Amino acid sequence: MSLTRVALAGSTGSIGTQALEVIEAEVDRFELSAIGATGRQPELIIEQARRYRPSVVAISDPEAARFIAAELPGIEVRVGADAMASLALEADVVVNGVVGFAGLSVTLATLEAGRRLALANKESLIAAGPVVQVARRTPGAELIPVDSEHGAIHQCLRATDKKNRVARLLLTASGGPFRGRTIDDLASVTIADALAHPTWSMGPKITIDSSTLMNKGLEVIEAHELFGTPAGDAGYGIGFDDIEVVVHPQSVVHSMVEFTDASTIAQLSTPDMRLPIGYALAWPDRISTPFGRIDWTTLGRLDFEPPDLEAFPCLALAYAAGRAGGTAPAWISAANEVAVEAFLESQIAWRDIAAVIAATLDRHDGAPATDAASVIEADSQARRIALEELNSFASVVR
Ligand code: MG
Repeated sequence: MSLTRVALAGSTGSIGTQALEVIEAEVDRFELSAIGATGRQPELIIEQARRYRPSVVAISDPEAARFIAAELPGIEVRVGADAMASLALEADVVVNGVVGFAGLSVTLATLEAGRRLALANKESLIAAGPVVQVARRTPGAELIPVDSEHGAIHQCLRATDKKNRVARLLLTASGGPFRGRTIDDLASVTIADALAHPTWSMGPKITIDSSTLMNKGLEVIEAHELFGTPAGDAGYGIGFDDIEVVVHPQSVVHSMVEFTDASTIAQLSTPDMRLPIGYALAWPDRISTPFGRIDWTTLGRLDFEPPDLEAFPCLALAYAAGRAGGTAPAWISAANEVAVEAFLESQIAWRDIAAVIAATLDRHDGAPATDAASVIEADSQARRIALEELNSFASVVR
């Protein structure tokens, strides 16, 4: 079997380091050809490059790149804003583990190069949906989700070859650290409270998103982009009314697909991101390392309940932005990044995250997402407005 060459954008983040564990567990299958990172953790990327010997290392920050290049003789170090996107040409599969909207160029470059994109960066797909759909039609391009819910749905959908027989997608949500709290309980939660995720180990941005249920809201839009109507041949005719969220605190059922005969197929494992990463890397095959294997003798119970839309208004905001389409998803994603960052810097309270996003979306101009430039413009406009809205909250908090 020839080795699958893997490039890893965002190698020092949570997805990146776990992808390296998958590659290391399956060395007879995968070869790490390139890694990329911002350069904020130079020691870690130097260590990764020395250990895995990729032929190319991409670093966005020029100053960090100079330091890193000096430590890595014999390895090509690419520098600058476009360096990470250039990794698409170095691999059969590109893992996009970049955090936030910054991952857009990697998503587009990989698909436009006709390569497989193992997508952990949901923000690029959400913000630039219509643009990504065009790139996805490039011959050879494949988009396999790494997000655990969408990886689960991708697996469940293999139960049918009739696309019109899919009735409903059920996205499971752990409920995050604040499941069961009322809106009043949530007035005074701290950063540490919000970062204490009960089941998943993830980076800080997505962990806060899980605490507000915005992560699930963004995942609804992501599911619509991946499996919905606009995906053309890749789509299953799924609309927003056909995508539901169910809270499942154990995070063992990663999502489900209901077919037109009411049969429901679910994908289960213990929560371990290495499973969906390995699935996206090896698809249509499977890796042989059993990450997330279930011990049925100790698993116990699986609970399901509806989400609390009053305590977690971000979920409904995301549905509304998804239904509005155009640049509304770009706006909600950008406003969310701004609000989460402000919360993590103690500028606003946890409940203000949703309030800032709602106030920003109220000012959405209804612009369409016609090309990458229009999405980038929408992103920066939404950030500007979110910062304005944020200041009105910041003045009354703390
Ligand atoms: Mg997820």
